[in-house]
Parts: sequence; structure tokens; C-alpha cells
Amino acid sequence: MATRRRRRRRNRTPLFLLLLLLLAGMVLLLISCGDRDGEGLDGDGEPTQGDAANPGDTEGEGDIQEPEPDPYEGYTIRTMTEQDMGSGEQILVSNAVPYTFPEGAAEELVVVIHEKNNSYMSKDYETSLLPVTVSHLNDMMKDYTDQGGAVNIMVVSGHRTYDFQQKVFDSSAARNGLEHAKRFVAQPGGSEHHTGYALDLWNTTVGDYFEGVGECKWITDNCHKYGFILRYSEEKETFTKIGPESWHFRYIGVPHSYIVVEKGFCYEEYIDYLKEFPFLEDHLFTTVDGVEYEIYYVEGLEVPVPEEGEYTVSGNNLDGFIVTVTKTASVGEPPQVPAA
Ligand SMILES: [Zn+2]
Repeated sequence: MATRRRRRRRNRTPLFLLLLLLLAGMVLLLISCGDRDGEGLDGDGEPTQGDAANPGDTEGEGDIQEPEPDPYEGYTIRTMTEQDMGSGEQILVSNAVPYTFPEGAAEELVVVIHEKNNSYMSKDYETSLLPVTVSHLNDMMKDYTDQGGAVNIMVVSGHRTYDFQQKVFDSSAARNGLEHAKRFVAQPGGSEHHTGYALDLWNTTVGDYFEGVGECKWITDNCHKYGFILRYSEEKETFTKIGPESWHFRYIGVPHSYIVVEKGFCYEEYIDYLKEFPFLEDHLFTTVDGVEYEIYYVEGLEVPVPEEGEYTVSGNNLDGFIVTVTKTASVGEPPQVPAA
């Protein structure tokens, strides 16, 4: 899997077009001057034969007269809301970028995970996540136990309300002091747990938070294949402002999880990186398991989306949207053959 930057035709400025037209006029003028001795001039000023008879062949003119392709051709504009900007699989949520709580009861969106899968446990009958997170968690944990992992992983925290996060923060501060709480617990509103895309794992054999060592390392190493990333690492604490948490996983979806891992980004860096791919400029292309994805960023609420085909739109919870287009299976990619 590798990411590629692919150029789109840009909208050129009218001034540039005017200059081109002026240049074309000058070339034509030079050709008509050269007609007296039967010779024309091509774009380089070198005398050529036959141009005068057929000025339309003058070198370079074909390019000049070609109309600029409309960058919006094949796209339609979706008008989004501020609320949309704060929702979707790729939203950034942190103390600096608080969660945009949806109107109405967010709790209606999440589902209780207890006994949804026999490859892992859940702490209680309340632990809940968004259905898309549960589905990918189930796939990951089934593959984990199928390849030999023990059923000793417990989801101890999923979706949290604002009030619950306040309790978590207060109890951590009471237990470990305010500074510790600030380093390891997000402020109410600033927790990814509000989204339903984040979960904390516990190792019941060790009796402690999941550390991603020993046989559990498989989960840490493979989570991106299921759309998850490890959100808080020691080396990225300056960006995330949260201390390392080997147990906190965040669902952002494929192919984004692959790119975050490949580039060695934390999520703050990734959201920043995607701004290098605005709709009117280069888009980001990547192929995962033979499926090609095209990703671009749109600032503001007017979001161009493909008129046809499969795509998702997610807010970034900052200033715009991330569009992920699933292309057809790419040509020339060999099928994945399992090793003997
Ligand atoms: Zn967590």
C-alpha cells in the first residue's frame, strides 16, 4: 500500500488565458507578415514551409484553443451544516477541538456491545459504541482469536456522555491529582469517547489496561486493517496533549487508518496533512487490498461530491470535510495470494 499524489487540471486565471490569446495573436500576425515570401513562422520563430497555407497547424495553437476542463464536471455540490462538520468517521476530537454534540439524544445512535461477539468481553451491559465501530471491532477480535489470541480482552470503555466524562475526570483527579488527570483524561467535551468511535481495552489475564505486548501485540500491529488507530503515543504527546495510552483505540476507517500508520502520523497530523489535497488541486490516491481510494479535502460547507459511484463525506470537526471516494478495483494489482 502506498499513497500517491495525482494532479488535477486546475482552474487557470482569466489573466493567464488573456496572455495566451495575446501570444496567439502575435504568432498569427508574424505568420501573415511572412506570407510575402511564402514562408510561415512556427511558434519558435523558425521559418517553416506550408504553415501559411494552413495557419491552423501552427505549433502550439492546438493547446491554446483547447478549453479548460470544468473541475466540477461529474460532481454535484452538497450543502452541509455546521452540525455535519462535527460528525462522521474522520472527525478530530480533542481538548483543543471539542466534540460537536449532535442535537437530540446521541445515545440513540450507539449500541450495547455485550455478547455481540464471543472473541472478547465487555465490562458491563451498558458499554456501547456506534454500529460501524462494533462491526469492525468484531472482525478484528474474531481474526485475533482465530490466529491464536486468547479470549481475555475486555472492552472497558466505549461511548461516554458529557456528564460521564466529567465523572471520569473528577475521579482521576481525586485519585491521582489534577495534573495526572489533565495528562491522561480528556476534559468533558474533549474526549473521543463521546463519538462512539473510541474504546479502551483491558487484559483480564494481567488484570490491567491493554499494553499491546506479548500475544496482544497482534491487535496493536493489525488494528489499522480494520480501520482503527492507536490514538495516543508517547512520541506524539506534543501534538495530542494526552499521555501515551496503549489501550485507547479510535475507529477512523480504511484507508485512512492505513495512511496514518504508513506516514507515522498521529491523528492531529493526519487531519493537517489532508489539507494539502483540496478539491481543486491534487487529490490523495491510495490502494488497499486492490481497491483504489481517492481522498480530498473541502473547506467550508459547500462540498463537491461525485455524481456517481461510492463515496463517504465526513466532517473534520474543524473547518471542512473529507471526501473518500472508493474507485473500482485497480487494474494491474495482482490478487492477494495467501502464502503457502
Ligand atoms: Zn479511552
